[in-house]
Amino acid sequence: MKLLIKNGHVIRWSTQQRVEQLENHHVLIEDNHVLNVTPTLPADFQPDETIDATNCAVIPGLINTHHHLYQSLTRCLKPVQNAKLFDWLLGLYEVWGRIDYEAVKLGSQISMAEMLLSGCTTTNDMFYVYPRESDVKAEAVIEGAAELGMRLHAGRGSMSLGRSQGGLPPDSVVQDEPAIVKDCERVIATFHDAKPYAMTRVDLMPCSPFSITFDLLKETRALAKQHQVLCHTHVAETEDENKFCLEKFGKRPADYMVAANWIGPDVSWAHCVCLNSEEIKLLADTKTAVAHCPSSNMLLGSGIPPVCEMLKANATVGLGVDGSSSNNGAHVLAEARQALLLQRVKNGADSFTTEDALRIATLGGARLLNRERELGNIAPGSAADIAIYDLNTIEFAGASAQDPLGALILCHSPRAKFVLVNGKLVVKYGQLATVYLQALVTKMNDLVKKKFR
Ligand SMILES: [Zn+2]
Repeated sequence: MKLLIKNGHVIRWSTQQRVEQLENHHVLIEDNHVLNVTPTLPADFQPDETIDATNCAVIPGLINTHHHLYQSLTRCLKPVQNAKLFDWLLGLYEVWGRIDYEAVKLGSQISMAEMLLSGCTTTNDMFYVYPRESDVKAEAVIEGAAELGMRLHAGRGSMSLGRSQGGLPPDSVVQDEPAIVKDCERVIATFHDAKPYAMTRVDLMPCSPFSITFDLLKETRALAKQHQVLCHTHVAETEDENKFCLEKFGKRPADYMVAANWIGPDVSWAHCVCLNSEEIKLLADTKTAVAHCPSSNMLLGSGIPPVCEMLKANATVGLGVDGSSSNNGAHVLAEARQALLLQRVKNGADSFTTEDALRIATLGGARLLNRERELGNIAPGSAADIAIYDLNTIEFAGASAQDPLGALILCHSPRAKFVLVNGKLVVKYGQLATVYLQALVTKMNDLVKKKFR
C-alpha cells in the first residue's frame, strides 16, 4: 500500500534536531512507515491513495506522555472543580469506585477520540483503579485503542496503600500486592509488543508514593527490568506530596524514587512541579524523563514546573494532557500552547519558543517512550504517524502566511484535517474514520448522568 501526502508545508526535525519548515513538499509512505520527504515526485512512485495537503501544515503525529483515559467519566465533576490535588483525589476515589469494564472502555475511547482529532497519534495511559467489586481489566483500554486505531502505551497501574495503612485512597479501591504483580505479568505476556512500529506496548505504572508501598515500588521496577518494559509514575506533583513523603518516609519524593531504583532512561516521572536544582540535575544525569502536564498543574493550582531549567540541563521532557478530570480537555496541540504560555508566565517571553513547544510534543515524547527512531519525526523510516492541519482557516488567517509553525502553536488550536496512525487514515476531513463518534458521545453523556455524578 503506497500513500502520498502531496504538496504540504512539512514541519519536521533535521538530523541536528532543529525544526525545519519545508514548503511544497511531498511525503511518500509505504505501508506503516515513511519512505521519503521530497520537493519532487519520483516518477516510479505510484500511490494507491493521495491526500492533497495544499495549504496544509504536515507535522509528526503528536505524542501524549501522561493520561488516565478513563477519567473523562468524571470530567468537570462539580464537587471537586475547585479542589487541590489531595482533596480532589479524596472527592474522586469514591466515584471512581463505580467503574466497570464497559465504562472504562467508553471513557477511554472518548479521551482518545478527542486526542486523535487534535493530531495526537500515540498516547501513554496510566490506568490504576481496580475496585474490589469491579470486573474492570487493562483490556478495556487496549480494546478501546485498537478500535480507534490509536498507538497506545498501556500502563498497568496500581494502588496498594489504602487508608488503613496510611495511604490516601480508601481500601475499597486498592488491591493486594500479589494480585497486582500477577496481573502485571499477565498483561505484559498477553499484550506487550516489543517490535518496531508496535501499536500496543505495556508499561508498568504504580500510581504514586502516597498510594503504593515501597515494597511494591521496588518489586514493580524489578519486574519491568525483567520484561524490558518502561516504568512511569507520578512524582513531586505538589508541595503536599513533598510534605507527605518527608513526614512518612523522611525523604523528598525524588529521593524516595532513587531509593527504589526508579531512575534511568526507561523511567519517566509525571509532573515534577516541586523539584529543586539538584533533583533536576539527577534527572538529566540519569536520563530519567519527565511528562509535563501544564493544564493539570494550573487547574489544581499545583504550581509551575521548572521546565526551562529541565531543558537547559538537557533532561528529556515530553508533554502530557493528564487525565480529563484534571484538564477537562485532551487537545494535545492546545496543550503545547499551554506549555509555552505557562513557562513564559514565570520565565519571560523569550524563555520558551514555538520550537520548544513542538519539541516536547513530538521528539521529547518519543524519547520518553524509548521510540526516538520511529516516532516524533517525519523522516525515512519514521512510522507513518502524521497530523495535517488546514492553514486556510479563520484560526490561522494571516498567521499562517507569516509562519505556519507559529500559527499552529500560538493561535487558537484547531482540529486536524487528516490524521494517519501507522499508515492508516483515522481522521478524514476533521472526522473520526474508525468509529461513529456521535454515538459514543451520546452513550457517554447517558452513562455519566446515570452513574458518575
Ligand atoms: Zn496523572
